[in-house]
Amino acid sequence: MSIRNEYIEKATNRIKIDIQRPSNKVSDYFASNVFTTETMRKYLSEEAFYSVMSSIERGTKIDRKIADQVASAMKSWAISKGATHHTHWFQPLTGLTAEKHDAFFSLVDSSKGIESFSGDALVQGEPDGSSFPSGGMRNTHEARGYTAWDPSSPAFIMENGTHGKTLCVPTIFISYTGQTMDYKGPLLKSIQFLEKAAVDVCHYFDRNVKRVVPTLGWEQEFFLIDKTMYNARPDLVATGRTLVGNIPAKGQQLEDHYFGSIPERVQDFMLDLETEAWKLGIPLKTRHNEVAPGQYEFAPRFEEANKAVDQNQLFMDLMDRVARRHDLRVLLHEKPFANVNGSGKHNNWSLGTDTHINLLSPGSTPRTNLQFLTFFINTIKAVHDHANLMRASVASAGNDHRLGANEAPPAIISVFIGTTLYDVLDEIERSVKKGEKMDEYEKADLKLNIHNKIPDLLLDNTDRNRTSPFAFTGNKFEFRAVGSSFNCSFPMTVLNTIVANQLSRFKQEVDKLVEGGEKKDGAILRVLRRYITDAKKILFEGDNYSKEWEEEAQKRGLSNVKTTPYALDFLVGDDAKEIFVDNHIFSHTELEARYEVLNEQYQRKIQIESRILGEMVMNQIIPSATHYLHHLTSLQKNLYDISLDKETTVFIDLIKEIITYTNQLKKEVDNMIEARRKANKIEATSARAKAYCDKVKPHLEKIRDIADRLEFVVEDAQWTLPKYREMLFIR
Ligand code: ADP
Ligand code: MG
Repeated sequence: MSIRNEYIEKATNRIKIDIQRPSNKVSDYFASNVFTTETMRKYLSEEAFYSVMSSIERGTKIDRKIADQVASAMKSWAISKGATHHTHWFQPLTGLTAEKHDAFFSLVDSSKGIESFSGDALVQGEPDGSSFPSGGMRNTHEARGYTAWDPSSPAFIMENGTHGKTLCVPTIFISYTGQTMDYKGPLLKSIQFLEKAAVDVCHYFDRNVKRVVPTLGWEQEFFLIDKTMYNARPDLVATGRTLVGNIPAKGQQLEDHYFGSIPERVQDFMLDLETEAWKLGIPLKTRHNEVAPGQYEFAPRFEEANKAVDQNQLFMDLMDRVARRHDLRVLLHEKPFANVNGSGKHNNWSLGTDTHINLLSPGSTPRTNLQFLTFFINTIKAVHDHANLMRASVASAGNDHRLGANEAPPAIISVFIGTTLYDVLDEIERSVKKGEKMDEYEKADLKLNIHNKIPDLLLDNTDRNRTSPFAFTGNKFEFRAVGSSFNCSFPMTVLNTIVANQLSRFKQEVDKLVEGGEKKDGAILRVLRRYITDAKKILFEGDNYSKEWEEEAQKRGLSNVKTTPYALDFLVGDDAKEIFVDNHIFSHTELEARYEVLNEQYQRKIQIESRILGEMVMNQIIPSATHYLHHLTSLQKNLYDISLDKETTVFIDLIKEIITYTNQLKKEVDNMIEARRKANKIEATSARAKAYCDKVKPHLEKIRDIADRLEFVVEDAQWTLPKYREMLFIR
């Protein structure tokens, strides 16, 4: 039996696992592992409860005595649930989550202990942070990092296997000198900034609004493959994607997977995962097959952005753990398989008020519509002015393969709003051209028109454009260019910040006109009209995947930066400095550090891919080819010896072909190593990342091309790497 037959045999012979569910009704156990507001109310004194609530809603400080009470309450709750340890849970720049567990236990004397968890331990932790990426902000010899409690995201109990239960306290991660070293710190700052700016603007329409929060509903795409196949692919294990693999005869061309019936094994995994997620309060709602074979998607109901980000991080971690129970592996890479669709993470984003209004939901009166238009147009203007930052926020080695690959939006940031709203904006804009100031009649007419048109929008919801990177979908914007493995924080930080910045500029402009004697609504419309003119080149209603759009976008002067190291340059450009530093989201040093870290991550990822590919070629691909070659040459020799057929050209041709590919492969691997050697000499991280992008990466593509040709001609039994058709279709 060939080695691949063994994999297939193993992958199809499975023991069915028993899924433990607390109840058939999700509502019986939803959020049972979360220290929710209700749980807090039960466990805390009234004083402590209101102090925590005020910290959540208004960002007020919690004093030490209260912190002690909260810690003690969390401890009692967690122990009653079977937890033995607690940890600060944080999101360093690795993109993953980090935890360091401490037992709920301290000694009173050498032989006697008690369960303990103090306010100090709740509020602040000091993980030995020397091994987390810091972009040079913190030297290893002063390896102190601090984690600080974020009361706005609830603590939860993570169950690991049958016995391990740990109380996780969401925290931010900062350096000794207070610089941010994680994804959450800047996100929280951006949320605060946006809240302030949006509340101010809301007051034009409704003085009762006290809070505005960005909301995020993520949709998570991923691939599932059998563990045996996964383990037999060094590229998947080390890099999350297949570096070689011939296109299967059948891929996604029949479109028979999308929304198809979910395979039984996958359904088991999904139910198990959902059960775990529901316990953790992640409001999962939908699950379905995605376009590519082996590809699926989950989406929860939306939440406040801060919570949603944590839930997504938690979910990615859960996915991996639960998949292992089912002998499956989750692939979160943006492009694990060439020539079939990659995976994204759509970020649905909107703004909600404490008066329960979705600010991006068209209203039913002219007045609420003016409010809607204000937030809608300001968002478009923000994306127009800072499209490059949006692009940079979704840059990664993995996402480079996906953006613009005919299945995901291109690297050109544009906004889709649908024909109804397009016409509304057009109308508003045209009204300006008639004269500097609209007369009262025109204003009334315009408002009426807006009023009459926008309700159609709700009916017109099918007017969707799946190809747009940033699409308005009726009551929210959907940022579709985010990669599947991403922490949503950074894209959301950028979006929150640019919109907040835009809203505060808007307010200044409107206030100025009002001070100059113009009526408020007129002033608002006038400023919005100008924004439409300024920003409309970002609007695109057509097919974003088309070649024509690339040309058109270039004419419009929109950026189309296809690779990460170049997109990252925007993070240290003037625009980034102005928007982040002036608004106190990142300091100058923090921005530079982030730039450094992201470039380094890019370069290291390509470096690992390149090394693994070199190994696979030398240790597996060439040996597979030579075994077959040996077989062919001896066959040819035997035929020759018995003078059966001196002209067996098929064999001769095949032998020649295999020798040619093998030679080319070896040569290309040598060239790639040489390119790496040269690139490694470059001192500056960003320049080194660019060298990896421009000089090393092309070798990976060339090698893949040759290896895939070889896979096509070599005898099936000799090929040791699981093939695409097996990884994607065998369940
Ligand atoms: P679809 O777009 O497939 O028709 P929905 O409109 O229900 O489905 O929403 C898709 C995603 O958008 C879901 O993840 C949902 O949670 C999210 N979403 C809906 N409303 C909002 C909102 N106000 N803010 C953020 N996300 C939202
Ligand atoms: Mg989607």
